[in-house]
Amino acid sequence: MVFADLEARAAALDAADPLAPRRGLFHLPEGVIYLDGNSLGALPLSVPGRIAAVLREEWGEGLIRSWNEAGWIDLPARVAAKIARLIGAEPNAVLVGDSTTVNVFKTLDAALRLVPDRRVVLTDSGNFPTDIYAAEGLAGLRAGGFEIRIVRPDEVASAIGDDVAVVMLTEVDYRTGRRHDMKAITAHAHAAGAVTLWDLAHSAGALPVDLVGAGADFAVGCGYKYLNGGPGAPAFLYVAPRHLGSVTPALPGWLGHAAPFAFDLGYRPAPGIERMRTGTPGVLGVAALDAALDVFEGVDMAVVAEKAARLAGLFVEGVERACRDLVLAGPRDPALRGSQVSFHAEEGYAVMQALIARGVIGDFRAPDIVRFGFTPLYVSHRDAVRAAATLAAVVNERLWDEPRFKVKAKVT
Ligand SMILES: *Cc1c(COP(=O)(O)O)cnc(C)c1O
Repeated sequence: MVFADLEARAAALDAADPLAPRRGLFHLPEGVIYLDGNSLGALPLSVPGRIAAVLREEWGEGLIRSWNEAGWIDLPARVAAKIARLIGAEPNAVLVGDSTTVNVFKTLDAALRLVPDRRVVLTDSGNFPTDIYAAEGLAGLRAGGFEIRIVRPDEVASAIGDDVAVVMLTEVDYRTGRRHDMKAITAHAHAAGAVTLWDLAHSAGALPVDLVGAGADFAVGCGYKYLNGGPGAPAFLYVAPRHLGSVTPALPGWLGHAAPFAFDLGYRPAPGIERMRTGTPGVLGVAALDAALDVFEGVDMAVVAEKAARLAGLFVEGVERACRDLVLAGPRDPALRGSQVSFHAEEGYAVMQALIARGVIGDFRAPDIVRFGFTPLYVSHRDAVRAAATLAAVVNERLWDEPRFKVKAKVT
């Protein structure tokens, strides 16, 4: 067995793993190795009971009274404070709600208003398309529009010229896992008179993030990936407190008003981050995310990142040892990547389907990427080695070569 030594090493690492008990906080289906928590986090066991209570007791019995008596009105701020700890933000600088895409739109607009004399938004070709689509939509609405300048990820730093208003980047590349140096790029942007907007979709809950330390201006992120908030969970946005006073939302709403229940016909922004709120938050989704975030209580994100590096390292070592046909996509050095690894694979879609049929769940990203997310709260070192062995078997024995594995579903 090619992996006997890796299995033994993994077993020893599992035995010494301080995060191992966290796995018991999740529902994980029998026989499944789940390496797609970067796309949809697993279900924390605390969520179903919480949702049932919100439905039956708070909504069912409490009705409208629950906005006050069950604290619905303050729930988003409490959840935002939990997220703030994970991303190194000031506790009052994060707003929970909407989708990541909506939050890109809102924060990019706010960022552009801070630099009114420039007309370039700089981003890179590794960015997630939705961020660029949101920017295009915004450009169509703003008087005079703006240019969206897309460069290669390694060219970003040198492309920050004095015409750039906003540097808009996703910290960890959704395909390859390549990670930008947030602190260095932010410093560079500031020196050139630009502001930064960071998308933390593949960072929040996966890596230590230090928005304050990096001097970041704006950020957004996703609730349903590493934060385990459930499908379509509310997203979040961040505005550095130094900017808050001069930021006006593109789409103001009554709950972002300084006095929502005065029902004034004129909009006056709330003094804090709440001014960025567009409408009534989805309480069910926020409550699920709140319960889900308890799995991070007392967790040191540096320990999470170290384990993620070990998991990915074991996986890559196993795959490369057993299977010459797969080529690592993205950085080998864990310091340069997020919590995922990807391989270029011919017939990658079918390879992933065959793998899923054998209980190892990752995903496929066009054109040829098979992608594996390592979520250290519920993936073990042995999982990583077994997943590598299964992937190698699927490729080496051409187990993917069946018609049923080549039928493309809507979601890949
Ligand atoms: C997943 C992801 C999103 C998702 O946006 P939604 O509006 O929640 O669908 C946005 N940006 C990045 C970088 C992502 O990886």
